[in-house]
Amino acid sequence: MTHPISPVPEKPTPAMPETFQGLGIADNIMASLERMKFTKPSPIQHRCIPEGIEGKDLIGIAQTGTGKTLAFGIPMIQRLARYKGHGLVLLPTRELALQVDESFQRIGGPIGLRTAVLIGGEPIGKQKRQLFRNPHILIATPGRLIDHLEQGSVKLETVKILVLDEADRMLDMGFAPQINKILLKVPKERQTMLFSATMPVDIVKIATHHMKLPVRIEVAPQGTAATDVEQEIMIVGRDQKKSLLETLLKQYLGTILIFSRTKYGAKKICHGLAASGHKAAEIHSNRSLAQRKEALEGFKRGKYRILVATDIAARGIDVSNIEVVINFDLPDNTDDYVHRIGRTGRAGKKGRAISFATPQETDEIRRIERLIRKPLKVTRPTGLPATTPFARVEEDRPYGHSSASRGSSQGHRAPWKPSGNRGHSSSSSSSGGGWNRKPRSSKKW
Ligand code: ADP
Ligand code: MG
Repeated sequence: MTHPISPVPEKPTPAMPETFQGLGIADNIMASLERMKFTKPSPIQHRCIPEGIEGKDLIGIAQTGTGKTLAFGIPMIQRLARYKGHGLVLLPTRELALQVDESFQRIGGPIGLRTAVLIGGEPIGKQKRQLFRNPHILIATPGRLIDHLEQGSVKLETVKILVLDEADRMLDMGFAPQINKILLKVPKERQTMLFSATMPVDIVKIATHHMKLPVRIEVAPQGTAATDVEQEIMIVGRDQKKSLLETLLKQYLGTILIFSRTKYGAKKICHGLAASGHKAAEIHSNRSLAQRKEALEGFKRGKYRILVATDIAARGIDVSNIEVVINFDLPDNTDDYVHRIGRTGRAGKKGRAISFATPQETDEIRRIERLIRKPLKVTRPTGLPATTPFARVEEDRPYGHSSASRGSSQGHRAPWKPSGNRGHSSSSSSSGGGWNRKPRSSKKW
């Protein structure tokens, strides 16, 4: 049965609240938020939490790094504490599963929430033991969940709330057969919530087949890139990419995430960097779960300054303070550009993204510009291969549309952020911290 999406409830946007009060959040969850030093909801949290707690089906769209996990996590945990039934969160990668579990535990652990993480690369027996403890919520990648279904170690008949995080990815052709198989086992009578920063129209059509009159909550048009990421494209020949990378690594001294199109490429780049003395780790599907965990943990903790990844790390991964994302290759899938660069500029912080493109890749650049609805700064580094620092020459942009042509560019400004620049009448100034937590020593979060 197909339902149209209910018209966007154009509620007059209330002023962003300064606290989580008034959203219907239970006291014990409020206490967890306080402990985490989260004082102010992000816009997607502000809009989705009350609707989610009421049990509505939701499609939530908001930029990367704006707190979507708790926008579905809080309603899910709260409803499952109150009513019978189980929750199921489906997501595309092992790393994201572990990270969502960590967020859920921080909110729900103190009130007795039990979760099981069902992901590949880990002994299935260990997961079966977790299932034996009757967890309230399963957090799973599709392949491993299907293994459990086939082995009879999990039943989904009592699932009352289903979440697809990175929903457009979960419903695209790659995952669709697995998702369909899983959905056959989940009761039709349930709450369904889908979240992503990108949500192409054809995917929304597929999604609504699985939902009941979903409310669409879009705090920024789908595909909007994180507002605080300064983006740049560098046109460079394939054989000059390595020396350009070396130059950039001298220029940017912070934490750097590099994306490669292939796992072979990621490995090669990583080994090259290690050979020239950089602290670098690699993450892609040819590595074991243990190796992937070690790489990501080491990157978070500063053991590795550089992480070289395939698109496995493009979605969802939350590492604070990544200074620059470098796209050594442009992504195969345009949507992934938004996700990749969204690994920086998270939770109101600033970030930078530099993408290498060969002179032949003008169509790809245009597609990205169309998706993010703004032109990109394109430069052409000169003097490569460089033993001396390269000079950057701003070029008149042969790519993309005129900047005035579509969409209102103000729409991209994160409204809950203290603007400090231009435009907004900003009645809610004072606190100055956006929805960031209260300052908390120098600990990473
Ligand atoms: P998204 O899923 O939208 O990319 P995440 O849910 O991963 O974003 O959240 C991004 C970061 O923001 C995380 O580190 C998270 O802990 C933090 N965060 C989430 N909500 C808040 C909040 N209300 N106040 C401060 N930080 C928050
Ligand atoms: Mg997320």
